[in-house]
Amino acid sequence: TPLLEIRNLQAEIGGRKILNGLDLTVNAGEIHAIMGPNGAGKSTLSYVLAGKPGYGITGGEVLFKGEDLLAMSPDERAAKGVFLAFQYPLEIPGVATVTFLRTALNAQRRKRGEEELSSPDLLKRVREIARKLGIDAEMLRRPLNVGFSGGEKKRNETLQMALLEPLLCVLDETDSGLDIDALKIVANGVNQLRSSERGMIVITHYQRLLDYIVPDVVHVLSAGRIVRTGGKELALELEATGYAQYQSEAA
Ligand code: ADP
Ligand code: MG
Ligand code: MG
Repeated sequence: TPLLEIRNLQAEIGGRKILNGLDLTVNAGEIHAIMGPNGAGKSTLSYVLAGKPGYGITGGEVLFKGEDLLAMSPDERAAKGVFLAFQYPLEIPGVATVTFLRTALNAQRRKRGEEELSSPDLLKRVREIARKLGIDAEMLRRPLNVGFSGGEKKRNETLQMALLEPLLCVLDETDSGLDIDALKIVANGVNQLRSSERGMIVITHYQRLLDYIVPDVVHVLSAGRIVRTGGKELALELEATGYAQYQSEAA
């Protein structure tokens, strides 16, 4: 069974059809890159997978390890191992980053029927992960994302991803204006989490992230569907040719 199987997915928001018969299969162990012009529906795909409210599913299906993902609540999806890294991370002034991480992990554990982790155990685990990822643990005491630089937000997101040990990671990096340092943080996190049980979808408008994360498969998403699939060389081709040919197809 594939980790993720999307068949003929159709989704709309605000009465507008955005996803238009999208097919995508991700097997455990694979990294898929999704590229495509602005407005193609890349972020919509990641939101639909995470179960963000407001989207209408008008056709098709999404199976996660053979189970109907779209029938699950966002919490259930997270508990089953679906992780969406947010393009615009939430700032929570009253909540220390470490407290947020603890809440996220313990919510997942409760949902799985596992015992909650105590504060000292959690701190130990977070520090271990931070060390492995080369992240300064000082950030953990600060309020979540408040006044964080772009790089710090990425560090935090990477830490969260590593802590939750998801089976499917969806990273939407489109339009987020990452500098090279932030790109390297994301790439390092993704590369360290690469494993035979895990699948990743890396959404990006630009090729340069893929200099650091080498994908197994590259897709072009245009006008709400995957219009082309290839190997890592497809990303280089797109860098050279741009998306003009795909945009005209959409129009
Ligand atoms: P991408 O991430 O590929 O740039 P998006 O998924 O963000 O594309 O958006 C796809 C299309 O959906 C765009 O044309 C966008 O304007 C439209 N869209 C996004 N959100 C809404 C919304 N809340 N209401 C109506 N249209 C939306
Ligand atoms: Mg966009
Ligand atoms: Mg987007």
